[in-house]
Amino acid sequence: MKNKKNILVDSFKRKHTYLRISLTERCNLRCTYCMPEEGVLLSHKSHIMNFDEIYTIAKTFVDHGVTKIRLTGGEPLIRKDLPIILKRLASLPVEIGVTTNGVIVDKYIDTFKACGIQHINVSLDSLKKERFTQITRRNYFDRVYNNIILLVKNGFKVKINVVLIRGFNDDEIIDFVNLTRDLQISLRFIEFMPFDGNKWDMKKMVSYAEIIQGLNSHFSEKQIERLQDSPNDTSKNYRIKEYKGSFAIISSVTNPFCDSCNRLRLTANGQLKNCLFSATESDLLTSLREGKSIEPIIQKAVLGKFKVRGGMDTLEKLQEPKLHSQNRNMTTIGG
Ligand code: SAM
Repeated sequence: MKNKKNILVDSFKRKHTYLRISLTERCNLRCTYCMPEEGVLLSHKSHIMNFDEIYTIAKTFVDHGVTKIRLTGGEPLIRKDLPIILKRLASLPVEIGVTTNGVIVDKYIDTFKACGIQHINVSLDSLKKERFTQITRRNYFDRVYNNIILLVKNGFKVKINVVLIRGFNDDEIIDFVNLTRDLQISLRFIEFMPFDGNKWDMKKMVSYAEIIQGLNSHFSEKQIERLQDSPNDTSKNYRIKEYKGSFAIISSVTNPFCDSCNRLRLTANGQLKNCLFSATESDLLTSLREGKSIEPIIQKAVLGKFKVRGGMDTLEKLQEPKLHSQNRNMTTIGG
């Protein structure tokens, strides 16, 4: 490709074309499975990337073959300079998506449109108001639900992320799937994953196999259609015939998708993580501020990527608290 520099290939020949950028460690919700009760230690403001730095680092990745960027956090929409960040990134030849809790999405509909952003993922773990409040420790169910409808009405490609937790919301799987009957959304059930301070327990995780089993006992085999997954898809996709939307399962715990992983992550304080589960990070921001090239650091980080889940290649290792306490909590990684 003309003017393209070395693409980002790891030692297992996986090409990295997708960068997730966390814009902030802060969030306007306090989801129990994401953030420890006592909150998280935030980086000093001076250590958080400013919009110029975000653009410069993103451009370096795009120059090296990244074609897709997703903005996340914390909650990316609470960043005051979000419109500037979106405008700058929109000037790059890259598809941009946003992952949000949806609380203040209504304020950004026009900005998203102006910046050509079509793909918005919204997290919603319960369709019951009281449960929503219980899990997020905030009373914003109506806002989030109405904002999902607003996004769909405005023609955005909307995915809804649902983290399933046994005994909490696993009785809502069918209700969530039924939401796809009239709404053109793609629902994603996510297996509960372990991170520092989130009180993860294998017993609380609802597995891919169990979700399928639950669906099979409600819908007939003829009603459930397995869809073709896109290359590098993290999810296994399905739909109920005649329903407008679709649903999928992201089985990072029981059935990881590491073989086709094309993702890298940049934290809000400018650290590159080559995997969600990686305990090590590479400091891009300090080098950038010192005027040094960040390309060698990126290439080294990519080459150092483990084959499976940051080295936690077995379920036994994943259940080892010492191993995930070496990682960050989800809100400061950028989910
Ligand atoms: N604030 C935004 C949001 O709520 O979508 C973006 C950040 S949030 C950390 C990104 C995604 O990570 C959400 O869909 C959330 O449900 C998911 N997530 C957080 N902790 C998780 C965990 N322990 N297991 C699985 N998914 C998790």
